[in-house]
Amino acid sequence: MLNLLIFGPPGAGKGTQASLLAKKYTLNHLSSGELLRQERENGPLGVKIKKYQDAGQLVPDSLIIKMIEEAIKKDLNGNGFIFDGYPRNLHQAKALDRFLKTLGKNIQIVLNLKLNSKTATERILLRSKTSGRSDDNKKIIASRLQVYRQQTTPLLEYYKTQNKLKNIDGSPAIKSVFQQISEIIKNRFSPFRKKAAANE
Ligand code: ADP
Repeated sequence: MLNLLIFGPPGAGKGTQASLLAKKYTLNHLSSGELLRQERENGPLGVKIKKYQDAGQLVPDSLIIKMIEEAIKKDLNGNGFIFDGYPRNLHQAKALDRFLKTLGKNIQIVLNLKLNSKTATERILLRSKTSGRSDDNKKIIASRLQVYRQQTTPLLEYYKTQNKLKNIDGSPAIKSVFQQISEIIKNRFSPFRKKAAANE
């Protein structure tokens, strides 16, 4: 089983790279933002989620932790997961580690997509034309970036001490970022080398 985690500020391309990885390695792409947006459309917690997302703030830990655990439980026998947008603070990271441990699983690689705030903002504003996301506007982007710097970046240290952190330059084109990531995975997992080569 291959369990990956992808980090980066809003606009870094986490979702794009996570879908490419999910396809290449047949992983379950778990995007916390997507899960929340779906719940927001259909579920009873919609109003509450909207309030947080549209303020650029994190939704309460209890809510997202439960949603992620439910999603993991639904796919215990697959090839693995790529976590995109989760965890976003230390409490969530510890909860994820604990939960995976109870299942005899763990995270193997943490990919950190690096991108400066200026480029991130430009990308999201461009995306806002087609994304239909109510949080893709200048004011909310600023608070999402601030939440990322304040609450999520401390996690990088947490995974660095576990020897799992890999930094990637998120500024080049999608394909080239994906090549960097694929190299990292190939080098880390020899059993995946053949499979990756076959998919190329
Ligand atoms: P981005 O990374 O571009 O901000 P996401 O779709 O990952 O986009 O997240 C959008 C919003 O969803 C966040 O601003 C936050 O309100 C909420 N959210 C997503 N993931 C989490 C999480 N792990 N914990 C709390 N809130 C979350």
